[in-house]
Amino acid sequence: MQDHLVRILSQDGTLRASAAVTTEMVEQMRLRQGTDPAATVALGRLATGAALLGSQLKDDQRLLLTIEGIGPLQKLHAEADAGGHVRASVKNPVSGLPLREGRLDIAGAVGRAGFLHVVKDLGFGEPYRGSVLLHTSEIAEDLAWYLSTSEQVPSSVALGVYLEPAGEVSAAGGFLIQAMPGGHDSLVALVEERIRELPPISALLREGQSPVQILEQLFEGIPFNEKARTDLIFRCTCSRTQVVQMLRALGKEEIQDLVQKEEQTSVTCEFCKETYTFSRAELEEMSR
Ligand code: ZN
Repeated sequence: MQDHLVRILSQDGTLRASAAVTTEMVEQMRLRQGTDPAATVALGRLATGAALLGSQLKDDQRLLLTIEGIGPLQKLHAEADAGGHVRASVKNPVSGLPLREGRLDIAGAVGRAGFLHVVKDLGFGEPYRGSVLLHTSEIAEDLAWYLSTSEQVPSSVALGVYLEPAGEVSAAGGFLIQAMPGGHDSLVALVEERIRELPPISALLREGQSPVQILEQLFEGIPFNEKARTDLIFRCTCSRTQVVQMLRALGKEEIQDLVQKEEQTSVTCEFCKETYTFSRAELEEMSR
């Protein structure tokens, strides 16, 4: 199943939800970042969360999620736009942690204390910024906690990444459900009950269930309309032009310094790991 996201709204307009399958995208991130299993799951959950939150953006709006924790992964980033393009990176891709009670120790890899930062560039004025302390460090609960407290929209978030024994991603995805103002508590309670009854999201995705099928189970008995379907793709926005601009921003002295020290200078993108190499002559040109 090609990675995609489906967004729905209950017919009375008080509940909105998105569900996504992100298997391919998370596998791409694993290969590019060289993550170990706990890091793959943590990064995959954050990237899926970014895709779900990104589904509420419009036009060229962008969203950036950052987790800074005291665990070995140190810092995780995930960026998404309204077009379903997602990229992500992790500062230290190897958690090196043993299993905890037979399971990957995601909270330990992220760190049981730290921050979740959210930046939304809505395309006008200063970007919106919000931060919360990590709640459980399992990422889904932290995003729900952020949405419910900082944005004050009661939210449920489920994120799942399933790995094969060799570490490849064989299923990834998640869902986000939000209660809008003026909704009935009984409807929210009904959905909450469904969430409790449903098997873990990674199990549903491993069975091959699509985002629509997952939403149909969550909203059983609640009439809803499908609002949008978006393909999700790993895509990096870096380019040689952008790297040149970044190097220019260092200033003439810094560039001259590089010209004198190095035969050539390489810059590697933290997201896609593409390396851009510049010769001495090219750098000299930039410093003029
Ligand atoms: Zn890149």
